[in-house]
Amino acid sequence: MRIETVWLGRGGQGIVTATYIIANAAILDGFYAMANPEFGAERRGAPVKAFLTISKEPFDDQEPVKTPDVVVVFDDKLIEPMRFAIDAAKPGGYVIVNTAKKPEEVKRLVGRNDVYLVVLDAIDIARRHVKLDVPNGPLAGAFAKVMGFPRLESIRQAFENQLGKAVEENFAATKEAYETAVVIPPERVDPTAKPRGIISTTSAFLTGPYELVGWAEVNKAGAVYPGTSLPYTTGGWRIDKPVIDHSKCIMCRKCWLYCPDDAVIEAWKEIEGPRGRKIRMKAIEFDYNYCKGCGICADVCPTGAIQMVREI
Ligand code: SF4
Ligand code: SF4
Repeated sequence: MRIETVWLGRGGQGIVTATYIIANAAILDGFYAMANPEFGAERRGAPVKAFLTISKEPFDDQEPVKTPDVVVVFDDKLIEPMRFAIDAAKPGGYVIVNTAKKPEEVKRLVGRNDVYLVVLDAIDIARRHVKLDVPNGPLAGAFAKVMGFPRLESIRQAFENQLGKAVEENFAATKEAYETAVVIPPERVDPTAKPRGIISTTSAFLTGPYELVGWAEVNKAGAVYPGTSLPYTTGGWRIDKPVIDHSKCIMCRKCWLYCPDDAVIEAWKEIEGPRGRKIRMKAIEFDYNYCKGCGICADVCPTGAIQMVREI
């Protein structure tokens, strides 16, 4: 028996820790396991992925997984940009998604009727038990539920080994996910069918295959031409989004000053004045294409005009 998995998430969500926890627990249960994170120049919130292989037999190949048995998605907004990994899942395999959306909607987004779909609101579970936006414990619980291993006691021990703190909180989150994750079976599985694609080792790092450039086309001395960060819309990284109550805003612009992504903007708006009169004035707004939901603007606002509202 050999299970190959890929875990898709964002920097700071604990996907590497999740694979270490499951690997550690699987080893405690007598399996062989290798967790293989793939690092680049990621920063907090940027998409990242990690591979985890578990086997009953010893193995020593360190190849990244190409056609996973299980795909774990830490954020439903990654389904579209990382579709290549979902398409690479083996027919009859599992796609586990952290989401606040309804299972039918997630099924439509995933677009596969030949895999088990596992749905849970891991952020909500983590917030209640761990008081952090780290869905890794609940997703480890959902994984254990559908795979039938590792045992919950082994996951608890792995938290002890790996984290050494907040063990009970993390374990409570894992256990709740184990008990409540919703499993939707595939509509049909053709045992002879192949995955629709592969996770290529030369490509598909984050958002899809890159074009391979031959040595003759590489820029001289590897020089990089001037570019812009405008195409890198970081808005997809959000879990919560800022929402403003203009009636409380005194236009001090502290939010604008502290926003690390230049996502606080001023826009002309028609606002209702004290006696119901419409006033056209400049008001604070957010550029949701780039706001990554860090919440700094809400923290620094002196009047409480900005609230962070759950988005995924
Ligand atoms: S949450 Fe506020 S501070 Fe953070 S990126 Fe968005 S607008 Fe800027
Ligand atoms: S920090 Fe608060 S009060 Fe000041 S401009 Fe921003 S939203 Fe308005």
